[in-house]
Amino acid sequence: MTSVKTESSIIKTVGLTRSYGEICALAPLDLQVTEGEWLTIMGHSGSGKSTLLNLLGGLDRPTAGTLLVDGENLLSLSEDQLARFRRESVGIIFQQHHLIPYLTSLENVMMAQYFHSIPDAVEASLALEKVGLGKRLANRPRELSGGEQQRVCIARAIINNPKLLLGDELTGNLDHKSTHLVMELLKELHETERFTLVLVTHNQEVAGWGQRTIFMDDGTVVKDVRQGRSN
Ligand code: ADP
Ligand code: MG
Repeated sequence: MTSVKTESSIIKTVGLTRSYGEICALAPLDLQVTEGEWLTIMGHSGSGKSTLLNLLGGLDRPTAGTLLVDGENLLSLSEDQLARFRRESVGIIFQQHHLIPYLTSLENVMMAQYFHSIPDAVEASLALEKVGLGKRLANRPRELSGGEQQRVCIARAIINNPKLLLGDELTGNLDHKSTHLVMELLKELHETERFTLVLVTHNQEVAGWGQRTIFMDDGTVVKDVRQGRSN
């Protein structure tokens, strides 16, 4: 008997919908993402990109549809279970760094460990070394450049080894050079850490680093393109 090996999906949505009263932020949306894939989400402002990302990260709940992420049916989880899912399965990076201003880089990363399990300074400094900030462990966010702050966020997002890393316009506040450095770092980490990466961006160049781009309009996917990396 021959066995058919199917690629495993880390994300599967069917008819995913999110409404706010009259406003339908996400029209029924079907999406499947393979484990380890690097997916970019593009689309004009208000097309539903952040709504989708928040649902994938368990930060929000859909109004209808099926939402499977990392083997969990997010609709059926209790608040506590959803919080555990966020802690264990996903890392999220936003446009604003949301670092705690009075904590050092090292302490900011250790906070994420604290909420997950046990803070470990050695492990946290290794994560900061991985993102090229081994010499900036003791600096507070305001002593770092925008690109460095985002690299602390990346270290914080990967410290608990999430299977899914989500980014919402994470290079939106960065200049061209810092954007390039952050993208190079993400590429390296994607290859070594083997997480699935889903990035929302307006930036065509950022999209060029990924393997597949979906374009959204009016809360749904209007184009789905697989690409070779332009880098
Ligand atoms: P994008 O990230 O693509 O710019 P969003 O996902 O933020 O778009 O928003 C999609 C639509 O949903 C927009 O029309 C927006 O105004 C609406 N929306 C998003 N969040 C809320 C909310 N909390 N309450 C009401 N409407 C919202
Ligand atoms: Mg948005």
